Amino acid sequence: MKRLDLLATGLALILAACGQPAAPEDEAPGALALVGAQLIDATGGPPVTDSVVVVRNGRIESAGARDATPVPEGAETVDLSGKTIIPGLVNLHVHYREGPEEIERQFRTQLHYGVTTARSTGSDTPDRVAYLLGAAGRADAPRTYTAGMGFSYPGGFNAAGRNAPATEEEARALVRDQIALGVHFIKMWVNEVAEPGLKIPPEIRAAIIDEAVANGAIPIAHIDDEADGRQLVEAGLWDFLHSTVLTFGPGAGVPMDDPEPSAEFIRMCLDNDVYFTPTLSIVQNRWHFAEHPELLDDPELRAAFEMFNPDALAGWDDAERRAGVVDDPGFEDRKAAFRQLLDFVKTMHDAGVAVAMGNDAGTPNVPFGWGMHHEMEMYVEAGLTPMDAIVAATATGAAQMPPVGEADFGTLEAGKVADLIVLNADPLADIRNTLEIDRVMRLGEWVDRSGFVPAE
Ligand SMILES: [Zn+2]
Repeated sequence: MKRLDLLATGLALILAACGQPAAPEDEAPGALALVGAQLIDATGGPPVTDSVVVVRNGRIESAGARDATPVPEGAETVDLSGKTIIPGLVNLHVHYREGPEEIERQFRTQLHYGVTTARSTGSDTPDRVAYLLGAAGRADAPRTYTAGMGFSYPGGFNAAGRNAPATEEEARALVRDQIALGVHFIKMWVNEVAEPGLKIPPEIRAAIIDEAVANGAIPIAHIDDEADGRQLVEAGLWDFLHSTVLTFGPGAGVPMDDPEPSAEFIRMCLDNDVYFTPTLSIVQNRWHFAEHPELLDDPELRAAFEMFNPDALAGWDDAERRAGVVDDPGFEDRKAAFRQLLDFVKTMHDAGVAVAMGNDAGTPNVPFGWGMHHEMEMYVEAGLTPMDAIVAATATGAAQMPPVGEADFGTLEAGKVADLIVLNADPLADIRNTLEIDRVMRLGEWVDRSGFVPAE
């Protein structure tokens, strides 16, 4: 049995463990019909203006135009006229923090904001891997994937506490150790570092990729540079975090002379079904709240920050600190360099390269939940349509999760898992309307969003 099949059957196993055999079909819980909303199913087609979505047993039984989608007899009906339904969001770049209690708060924040799937990319101890795997099938937690603990090089970026093999053999053994924990991905940081010799050498990268693939895990890499991207694709990798625009390490933060991906690299990406998760938030959020302190008036965002990093929030509440960020002499350069990153997203998207979405949630300035909506806003700023941004944030990422191409989530079609968000305003008119959340459904159950903002 494949590992992901195990995840998919997690709920059944839990039910079995509780001594509750699956109910026969005619005794199954009744259908729920969501009627009258605009439906954005994220398959890439146009929105359905007046829709019916029928949910039963945690899955979508049918979805489409009202006149073509009958409401089953006896179904509970919810009138969603004037609202919009989109799939639950799929965040391919998060870092869960700390222990079970904190992780539960991070789960809650994600679901509150409609993030129903997340991939944790390289900072999970064995305990945390076990915790995430153990949450499979829970309606009160997102669907999670993990890359366990990531790979660097002795003395290199993020090497402390990570896997930092010095030889190919050591790398292969450490990859197998991670896979034995049940991880789905193997992450490596191929970052720019002050001393060039401290990046993972190409032969060790290749060994990591080879060993991961041979053992059924998907290798993923943080890159900042096209030459590294080419070498990794040639070695068999297809899943990138960040971009080929230099945004980390020495030399970052000023515009590059030649930031555009080359035609040859784009061709390589298309030929090898490569996809990117550009992760704009971790760059822009270094100054975003200094430029837009009014965002911090939003009690839900404050609650999201409080739940994972109150110190970061306190920092942004400090007017002097904010002034220091926007008055810094390098500020305009940083923004110009960031524009190059937005242009990378647009160039790759227009060329037909799959661009999914992730945001480094869990790093100090990127709140869980809220951050994915902000990332969508930046995709629109990059030049994608709101529909493109919604597809990137849902179906595109889902299609890349193992087993690749077999996702039963990420779009709203008959047979898919009922993970969805009901919005009070039209995101196609303004992508920021994805924050106008009426309610969230995970595995066919409404998420309890009450009490998220603590009472004064
Ligand atoms: Zn990250």
